[in-house]
Amino acid sequence: MSVQLHSLPRPGGSTQRIEQGKIMHSSSNRLSAFLCAGSLFFTASVSQAQNNDPVELSIEHVAGTVYMIQRPGGGGNIGASIGPDGVLLVDSLFAPMSESLVAAVRQVTDANIRFLINTHVHPDHIGGNENLAAMGVLIFAHDNARLRFLAERNRFPRRAGSFTPQPPESARPVVTYNDAIGFHMNGEEVRAFLVPPAHTDGDSFVYFPESNVLHLGDVFRTSSYPIIDVFNGGTLRGTIAALDKALDLTDANTRIIPGHGLTVVGREAIIEFRDMILDVRNQVLAMIKAGKLLDAVMAANITAPYDAKWGQEDGWTAEDFVPIVYYELGGSGRNVDR
Ligand SMILES: [Zn+2]
Repeated sequence: MSVQLHSLPRPGGSTQRIEQGKIMHSSSNRLSAFLCAGSLFFTASVSQAQNNDPVELSIEHVAGTVYMIQRPGGGGNIGASIGPDGVLLVDSLFAPMSESLVAAVRQVTDANIRFLINTHVHPDHIGGNENLAAMGVLIFAHDNARLRFLAERNRFPRRAGSFTPQPPESARPVVTYNDAIGFHMNGEEVRAFLVPPAHTDGDSFVYFPESNVLHLGDVFRTSSYPIIDVFNGGTLRGTIAALDKALDLTDANTRIIPGHGLTVVGREAIIEFRDMILDVRNQVLAMIKAGKLLDAVMAANITAPYDAKWGQEDGWTAEDFVPIVYYELGGSGRNVDR
């Protein structure tokens, strides 16, 4: 494995804060004091109109040193190791929520927020990076995730492939790894590691072995069918393999933080999710082998038993999920291929 340190984006060792759209320089001490006073206003750096409002975030104890920080309705769920060695965050939600994120941590500890791991590149998981970096938080991600930060604009699967502009330079991960990395803090070795290309091609799971908690990023969600982001290297095959990897790591007592979903769950929820995906895959594959075109597969409504549980989220239903399965398995809607 290798670990790479990328040059810090801010010259001169100064830190930046973002106030009403302007970038301002200040010392990190002044910034920290300002943050503690709770009077810093953040503005959005990611264009997500529905997520531009600051909201209060909740924090709940999961197990051991690990907490989950969540916005109302869930989504982009943050994991946090909190203890005497400081705070490590997993994902950063949206920029306007950074002040609430710090406030949620402060409900539990006054310790420094030192490290942030991005599980992948989507805006609801990296939006707070710039603000946290300005506080002196060191950002980590897999090599592939960082590469996605460098694209001039990034395409995402919802709304039939929407685009977002390049995240600011100061939001980029500073330390990247090509396999796995360990953080020795708060009495355990927190492990972040690449999994097979599932949601994207830069997905990390974050495992807290002593606390027996696993954060699965958006590879696992309890609120919708899996989002396989083909624009960013996600695959069906990798989704199944990554979920199997999660099952290998867990036991009956492991607590699982899903990337999206309201509650922490146990491994049985991963099994249920994986088995649903396998069933859909097997049925779609059988229809492809029978020469069915996509229209026929969609008309068969094979997800009907699952739609009440996973098909209710706006912008990501069976209409989005099944075609991805169909095309990855070699199906084609084009008669010319028959
Ligand atoms: Zn995502």
